[in-house]
Amino acid sequence: MCLPARISVLLLAATIHIAASDTLSFPCITNTTNPSYLPSSVIPSHYSLLLSLPDPNDASNTSSALPFTGSISINVTAAASTSCVVLHAGADMSIMGAIVGGVKLGPAAITHDRVSQMLTLSLGSSGLAQGAKSLVYVEFSAVIRDDTNPASYDTGGHGIFLSPNTVPPPDSPDSPIASPDEVASSLWRLKTGQRRQATGQSLLAPWREALKAARADGSLLMIATQFEQSDARGCFPSFDEPAYKAYFEARIEVPLEGRGKRVAVPPLTVLFNTAEAEPALIDYQRGIKVFRFRRTMNPLPTYLIALAVGNFDFIQRTSRGIRYRVYTPPGYAAWAALAMNATVHAVEFFGDRYGFDYSRMNSKLDSISVGGIDMDAMENQGLCTYAPPMLLLNPNASALPPTPISSWGRYGQAHLITLVTSHEILHMWFGDTVTMRDWDQEYLNEGFARAMQYYAADDLIPEWDFYSRTGRSTATTNSWLRFTYEVAQGLDSTGTAPAIVYPLPGGGDQPPFPKQQLKMEEGLMQDPSKAPLFSKIFYEKGAAVNRMVATHVGWDHWDEALGAHLNAHQWQNPTVEDLMRSLAPAFASVGSPPAMESMLPWLRQPGYPVITLSLESTATATLLHASQLPISRYLPSASEPSIWWIPLRVSVAGSKSFVFEFNSSRAVMDISNKFSAPPDSHTGEHKAAASLIVGDPAFWGMFIVRYKQSAQWESRITGVASSLETKPDYARALCKQIFLLVTMSHEPVSLLTKMIESLAQKLGANPVIGGYKGTGDFYTMILEQAEKLIVMLSYVDNAASGDFVTAMRSLVGPLAERLGFESTDTPPPTAVSSSASSVPWPEKEDAGVELRGRTALRPVALLNAVAYGNPATVKAALVRFRARVAGGGVKSSTDQSSERAVYLAGMRYGLQNDTVALQKLVFSTSPANPDFNNMLFGLLAGATSENLGCGIGLDAIHSTILNDKAAIVKAFSIMLQYAPPSCRARVWEPLSTTALKLWAEIGADATKTITEALSLLTTVDGLANATSLLATQNASVMPAGTAHSILTQVKINIDIVATNGGSNNFN
Ligand SMILES: [Zn+2]
Repeated sequence: MCLPARISVLLLAATIHIAASDTLSFPCITNTTNPSYLPSSVIPSHYSLLLSLPDPNDASNTSSALPFTGSISINVTAAASTSCVVLHAGADMSIMGAIVGGVKLGPAAITHDRVSQMLTLSLGSSGLAQGAKSLVYVEFSAVIRDDTNPASYDTGGHGIFLSPNTVPPPDSPDSPIASPDEVASSLWRLKTGQRRQATGQSLLAPWREALKAARADGSLLMIATQFEQSDARGCFPSFDEPAYKAYFEARIEVPLEGRGKRVAVPPLTVLFNTAEAEPALIDYQRGIKVFRFRRTMNPLPTYLIALAVGNFDFIQRTSRGIRYRVYTPPGYAAWAALAMNATVHAVEFFGDRYGFDYSRMNSKLDSISVGGIDMDAMENQGLCTYAPPMLLLNPNASALPPTPISSWGRYGQAHLITLVTSHEILHMWFGDTVTMRDWDQEYLNEGFARAMQYYAADDLIPEWDFYSRTGRSTATTNSWLRFTYEVAQGLDSTGTAPAIVYPLPGGGDQPPFPKQQLKMEEGLMQDPSKAPLFSKIFYEKGAAVNRMVATHVGWDHWDEALGAHLNAHQWQNPTVEDLMRSLAPAFASVGSPPAMESMLPWLRQPGYPVITLSLESTATATLLHASQLPISRYLPSASEPSIWWIPLRVSVAGSKSFVFEFNSSRAVMDISNKFSAPPDSHTGEHKAAASLIVGDPAFWGMFIVRYKQSAQWESRITGVASSLETKPDYARALCKQIFLLVTMSHEPVSLLTKMIESLAQKLGANPVIGGYKGTGDFYTMILEQAEKLIVMLSYVDNAASGDFVTAMRSLVGPLAERLGFESTDTPPPTAVSSSASSVPWPEKEDAGVELRGRTALRPVALLNAVAYGNPATVKAALVRFRARVAGGGVKSSTDQSSERAVYLAGMRYGLQNDTVALQKLVFSTSPANPDFNNMLFGLLAGATSENLGCGIGLDAIHSTILNDKAAIVKAFSIMLQYAPPSCRARVWEPLSTTALKLWAEIGADATKTITEALSLLTTVDGLANATSLLATQNASVMPAGTAHSILTQVKINIDIVATNGGSNNFN
């Protein structure tokens, strides 16, 4: 590739000061411990970037990748005497030439390792003595990632990439409803690095497909960047690690337009982190327009640098001297109103809270919609990028957002926009002003952004109940509890998730410091298949710990300490320990132990505690006893038992709540003076006390409270259930916690039965069952959690397990009957009038949400009602089943969703000729028929006895109808989940054989399917079998961490059976 003439002239003309070096030859310092990391021998302080970029729309009708050229000048200082400069350069990059200290390097002195993405510039005998300053100048060329570049097929929309400059089309009310899983996986998407470590790559497809479609229909395109974690190096050679913060300035050249093809769109615009230093210059001779940008006000890490090139509209506002713009595709400026409001609010809110004004960071803040970004949003300093649905709200009130957000309606999308913009803005302080030193401590960015997004949004729109922090909201749809707290407690419960942070070696807040093997990688090694879960640990659990601490010390003390932290460490890379020191005054102000002793262990040790409360009345006092145990008995072995510092809020009926704080396995507190009523004059006891103590009433703690006395449990459950209408998310949070306590064998299933019984009545009486108010989600959560538990309980043949099934039937039966097999709903209104009041945000849910919620809930409710044997649902399903088989099983393609329930009913509750009919139907139906999987599910899940049902299911699996082994393993999973225990015992041997074959055929790709099946094993024999199976596969296809995770899950299952009194001795 040819360099533009002008750059070559620069290269020859560059003469730069070089520090005197002695004649001794220095060694070339590289990082021998971790070759993909920089050696810390040369430190950058300033980058001057020049890029010559193409017009993105010149690529509209071509199929070749877009090349670009550039140069970078980096001021550096040698931290150690070295004969080389080592920096990063991307795999797709070509290095055209380099000058260090005024000396042009020959080709032999430039080594570019594309695998490690390291660029080594050898300085020969001159070298750089420690302390010497120099200038490193590199010319390069690279390509803009797009759908034609084979490399990008593995990597998605990041680095510097071509993107559609469009807004996804609105959804139609008739579109299929996204499953809760789909919604969850498409919201709060992972950062690039974590995504690439995850096994599935399917999330990358939308970018490629959207870009292809945009090219095909001639839509506008744009050039955008996404550098976190390590993709700045694909755009320019750089010291591409977060600890190497430096100043940046940029000059970006783009071709002059005027080829007459886009007269209707705004002119080509170039955006960078900073404002333009001067109006763009037009160079007619070279046919280019030159944009020159101001130097950043402060040093930034490379991952926060960003640029965008395209034709945009924007809205603008100036507030407190800061210029805000939200850039949209042409024609969509009116969609940006809510994002502008939320952005300006968050900037001023956080600036005030921390006493650290945004004007110290930048004179402007741009937000831009990037059609092809492969994450929700990115906090580039001064130029935040967003996926369109996270930034732009259609002002037409009748238009639904694109899937999967459409399931939540415009109201839900408005929530997301408010939360996501608040999240990215918080990063201007945590991430951009102070930056984690290494990705091991990404909690320092994300734990704060996640916690504070709710905090700012709650302040902006208290009626939306994001956080219930302000006291003005009523906590009926507390997003915090549902999307962060509950997630953190769930995924950290088994004992296989890593800790929130890992210690970093070295000291000081600036490089150099020694780099060692990333502890984060060690964390992932525990279970690499759960990389997405790992990121949720530092997002969701990190946020939960932060909220617990902030609530305990008081938000004002918390914010004040964080403000001091920001001021003390601004533009540096403080560690978790630095943060603990900064928080010391906040802890001292409430008389708590220093953060280093109290908060840090929460960040450093995996898992969380279960706290048991009990009351004791003596002749002279009422004592509250507390003890703590880890939620999982399968945490990594430690020399001493895990102890957490516990800031427990306790409420006593009719009196002020108080804090019971302890840092030991057991503690006791005299609470005699906490009661407003005097003790009984004869006995001295507080009579009401036994039933009126509630630990952590508002779910502030990253722990779970249980009660030794059943009266207290009953009072807690009744209390929460009776306030279901006003605080549904409190009921949901307690219910989820009781599921966790039972699953981790801290409580017997009878406790859960009591909770479900209390809820069944209340939920059944509530006419609102779907939509954002969350009742539909509540049902789904209970049914999903119970589905796993019921497998283990089926080994327990006693009254307690029978009572649980009865309670579940009473919960789901009336719901299924109300929903019915045939939807009688009229279509949702589509002609809601659009009015000024619907912008900037909708004032309440749109009418279709409730309906969509019902549609999503219907198949789940019907299937469960049949599985739990609700007579009316079974009867209706049987009628449908017989009509179906009489008609040859051919089903119209609409409304497949309830058919599993129909076939399950026929197999499980039908007569022998129903079973035979279903068997015939399965074998005479093509697997390509959309109804085939529903029929097969019914056949497998409906097995009722070892001889008849089980034999038929196994025959079906062994027959030739399933020639895909992954489908066979899935079929075994269904039998493990639904068939009677005696039948499940016959599944192991063929499952194990199939697993081995599947591993041999597709290797690691088989792991996910096999994991699902093995996680359902519930017996000691099952554990032994799985152990030997996994031992043989570990080295070749399955990481040790994944095997550990599966075996731990089986042990947890066995514990449930034992705890609830099963005989546990089949086969
Ligand atoms: Zn973030």
